Amino acid sequence: MTVPRIQLNDGHSIPQLGFGVFKVDPNETERIVTDALEVGYRHLDTARIYGNEAGVGRAIAASGIAREQLYVTTKLWNDDQGTQSVHDAFDASLERLGLDYVDLYLIHWPSPARDRYVDTWREFEKLRDSGRVRSIGVSNFLVPHLERLLDETDVVPAVDQIELHPAHQQPATAAFAEEHGIAIEAWGPLGQGKYPLFELPEIAGPAATHEKTPAQVVVRWHLQRGHIVFPKSTRRERMAENFDVFDFELDDAEMQAITALEREGRVSAHPDEVD
Ligand code: NAD
Repeated sequence: MTVPRIQLNDGHSIPQLGFGVFKVDPNETERIVTDALEVGYRHLDTARIYGNEAGVGRAIAASGIAREQLYVTTKLWNDDQGTQSVHDAFDASLERLGLDYVDLYLIHWPSPARDRYVDTWREFEKLRDSGRVRSIGVSNFLVPHLERLLDETDVVPAVDQIELHPAHQQPATAAFAEEHGIAIEAWGPLGQGKYPLFELPEIAGPAATHEKTPAQVVVRWHLQRGHIVFPKSTRRERMAENFDVFDFELDDAEMQAITALEREGRVSAHPDEVD
């Protein structure tokens, strides 16, 4: 199974479908990531705050998969924003992962109350120059945060990782990102299981038509919209299900009906309120 790659604005590319480990118990992470790698995932999305970078690193080391075949993202937590603290936090993440570079490093939240994300981004530019990070990006940045980075710094983020699923598509942020060549990564792509997407006829209908599951329809919708996506499951059969989305295609009418589900159905906090 060859997962398509999305070209980033810095010359690198990223597998469009990956595996996320938010809320994966650190004690179970090695086993769960090992399952994901065996299923075929090669793109892993973790963060310092998830507390499971070390488990991700152990699974990578045990897999025997060549480093260049893997794509690894981690994220800087809010209280590490600043100048030297960025480098200290990055060094610690790299050490826990047992890697000598990460493919993508993200500012996890803008945390505007701290007013440090511009300074932090300048340090990210240095990390990228050091070669220990291939691509740098942001997460949960809305248009005002992106505008400020573009105005005050030199490097356009490669990605913005935002909450995005059919009921919360963040059209303003997505349009701004597209205009500026910033790829969109959709977190909570299945509505985190909190938003009842799977029962909606716009999703259940195509699932029946294509003999796929509602979750597969939602993942497929993301892929056809051009999002980078990394659904999470701790259950191997669901990992396999979420990966088995390359043998069918939603037609234009099905895509439009799902896209029309947009309704500000945010399942997590507003980025301006996360500190
Ligand atoms: P998700 O939308 O991927 O939902 C995961 C939940 O959906 C699972 O816990 C399970 O309950 C359900 N599920 C998964 N596969 C299913 C299937 N095939 N059938 C039925 N139910 C299924 O939510 P997520 O984990 O929050 O998002 C994915 C990844 O995005 C995370 O693991 C993490 O890597 C990233 N993320 C980033 C941020 C951020 O602030 N940058 C925030 C949250 C998540």
